[in-house]
Amino acid sequence: MSAPSILPRRAIIIAVGSELLTPFRTDTNSLFVTSRLNDLGIEVTAKVIVGDRREELAAVVGEAMRRADLLVLTGGLGPTDDDVTRLAVSDALELPLLEDPSIVERIRQRFAKRGMAMPAVNRVQGQVLSGASVLPNPNGTAPGQWVEQEGRIVVLLPGPPREMRPMLDAALAERLEPHAAGARLYRRVLKIAGRTESDVEQVAQPVYSRWIDWAPPVSTSILAAPGQIELHFSVRATTEEEGRAVLDRATSEMTAVVGPDVYSTDGRSLERVVGDLLRGRGWRIATAESCTGGLVASRLTDIAGSSDYVERGVVCYSNRAKTEWLGVPEELIREHGAVSEAVGLAMAAGVRERANVEVAVGITGVAGPGGGTEQKPVGTVVVAVVGLSGAQVRRFLFSGGREQVKFQASQAALNMVRAMVGGSG
Ligand code: AMP
Ligand code: MG
Repeated sequence: MSAPSILPRRAIIIAVGSELLTPFRTDTNSLFVTSRLNDLGIEVTAKVIVGDRREELAAVVGEAMRRADLLVLTGGLGPTDDDVTRLAVSDALELPLLEDPSIVERIRQRFAKRGMAMPAVNRVQGQVLSGASVLPNPNGTAPGQWVEQEGRIVVLLPGPPREMRPMLDAALAERLEPHAAGARLYRRVLKIAGRTESDVEQVAQPVYSRWIDWAPPVSTSILAAPGQIELHFSVRATTEEEGRAVLDRATSEMTAVVGPDVYSTDGRSLERVVGDLLRGRGWRIATAESCTGGLVASRLTDIAGSSDYVERGVVCYSNRAKTEWLGVPEELIREHGAVSEAVGLAMAAGVRERANVEVAVGITGVAGPGGGTEQKPVGTVVVAVVGLSGAQVRRFLFSGGREQVKFQASQAALNMVRAMVGGSG
C-alpha cells in the first residue's frame, strides 16, 4: 500500500487498557505520540482512554474515523483475551484479520532464542488487518500495524513504551516525514528560577506577542510550577538552520528582558547547569540540609558524573545533628533559633570546613504543615551558600504543601549556587 500523498492534519490518540482507567496507571504513551505528531505539524484534537472492551473500542474507533484523518492506538496488542485492539479495529473498519505466517515464525524464533516454545496464545499476534503494513517490533513480540482507508490512516502500536516509541519513530520517519516537505517544528525551552509566573509573564508577554508577526512566526507558551518557570518557543521551519536562527533571535530577545534568572536555553536542568559550572571551575560542593532532607544532594547526584564535584551531603535534621556534625554552636541555635540566617550560615561553613571543599550550602526551614510560628511561618526557609570569597544568605517564604516547600527550597539553593559559581566566586 502506498503512503498518502499529503500529511494528515488532525489526529486522535486512543490509549487502550483497562489498567489506564484505574488510579494506579497513567497513560504516558499519548504524551510521546502527541509530541512526535506536533513535530510534524499534526494537531492532536482529542485523546481517549478505552478499557479492554472490544465493542466499546470499536465504537470509539468508528467515531474517531469520522473526526480525524489519523488515528494512533497504543496497547491491547498482546496475546491474551483482554487484548482486543486488533479485533476492535477489524470490526470498526470492516477489514478481516488474516494470519501472517512470517510474523508467527518470528515470534516462535524469539521464544526459541530463550530456549522456550511459543505458547499457543501468541499466535493471534500474527493476525494482520487486511491490507495493513506490518511495523516490526525489535523490542517485543507484538508487531504494529499501519492501515489506510479512504484517506485516513490508522496506526496500531504496542502498549509498552519501550516498544511503542521506536516503532512510532521509525514509522513516521518512513511514511510521513517525506511528505512534510522538510517542514518541521523546532522548539526551544527557556528555564527560569527564582521568579513568579506573573512576574515573568509581565516582562515576557510584550516581547513574545510581537513574534506572531515574524516570518515564520514563533509561538510561545508559559509553563509554571512553584520554583520553576518555562517558556516554550516553537517555530515551523523548512530547514534546521532556519529554525535555529529564528529561535536564537527569540531566545536573545527574551533573555535580554528576563535577565540572568534564565538558567538554561538548551534543555539542561538546574542541577545539570550547576554541575557543569562546578566542573568547569574544578570546584567541589558539600551540602548540609535540614528541612530539604537531602533533596539538594539528591538532585545534584541525579546527574551522571556528579562524583567529579559532589563531595558529600549531610542531613542534619535535629539541633543535636547540627551541633555534632557541623559544629553549629548550641548557643547560636538557642539565641537565633534553628531557622535563622546565623544557623544557615554556620551549617554551610561547618560542612565546608569538614568536607574541605570550595562551595557549601546550608538549608534550614519550616516545611510544615506544623511547626510554624508567627515570626517563622510554614514555608520559611533560610538558604546559605559559602564559597571561596564570601557568603550569601537569603530568607524565603514559600507557599504550598510540604513537598512544594522542599522543592522550592532546593531550587533556591541550587540557583544561589549557580549565581555564586557562575559569578566571580
Ligand atoms: P498492552 O500492550 O496493552 O498489553 O500493554 C502492556 C503494558 O504496556 C501495560 O501493562 C502498561 O504497563 C504499558 N502501557 C500500555 N498502554 C500504556 C500507555 N498508554 N501509557 C503507558 N504505558 C502503557
Ligand atoms: Mg493491555
